[in-house]
Amino acid sequence: MAVKVVDAEGKELAPTTAEKARRLLAQGKAELVSREPFVIRLPYTVELPERLEPEPLPGIGKRILLHICCGPCATYTVQRLREQGFAVVGFWYNPNIHPWQEHEQRRESAAKLAQEIDLPVIWYGRYEMPQFLRLVVGREKPGQRCALCYRMRLERTAQMATQGRFDAFTTTLLISPHQDQQLIHRESMAARYGVGFYFENFRRGWGERGRLTRQHDLYRQQYCGCIYSEWERYNGRSVEVLL
Ligand code: SF4
Repeated sequence: MAVKVVDAEGKELAPTTAEKARRLLAQGKAELVSREPFVIRLPYTVELPERLEPEPLPGIGKRILLHICCGPCATYTVQRLREQGFAVVGFWYNPNIHPWQEHEQRRESAAKLAQEIDLPVIWYGRYEMPQFLRLVVGREKPGQRCALCYRMRLERTAQMATQGRFDAFTTTLLISPHQDQQLIHRESMAARYGVGFYFENFRRGWGERGRLTRQHDLYRQQYCGCIYSEWERYNGRSVEVLL
């Protein structure tokens, strides 16, 4: 039986057991308030810590534009952003995915997920593969080309977010342990267009991403996206050896 405990001012404290209450009474360390219900009073006041208000969710009342690199990476990221209170709209823009058929397979997988989770998506109309290749030519080393690749996609996302009057933008790239989070963050700073980048370490949801990907039966790509990454994936060496 739990016994109610109050301090000298009548403030209710954590309850105790009947055995402990009887011991305190016997030792003169508490006085009996009533037997039915069993209540004891301590002879001193206890300062209780102030009850902390829960932190407000960062996304309440905000619209966020989410750059989507592929269906699997969008699974957990959308779920997490919604839990944070954001109204999420997806944005598809990936001129770095080669060849075209691979781009289409990933885009269709993202569309399947969007339909299943009721996610509105803005599909960028142009496949800017030539612009991507022009951008990275001569700078094909992994770190160099990836920085440019992030910037290109984030810049377009930021531009769309500004046009659509979103409160923030972010990217599913942040969930992948194969991507460079610090570099993504740095490039997002340069790509702002007056709208804030929402950074969160979505990697904690990597395991959940796997589970959700299987649940939605989504296509899983075998390499990052560009022709260089495809060569590296199947050759096992950095493209630097070709330069
Ligand atoms: S490896 Fe991935 S991130 Fe780097 S340039 Fe290629 S597609 Fe972009």
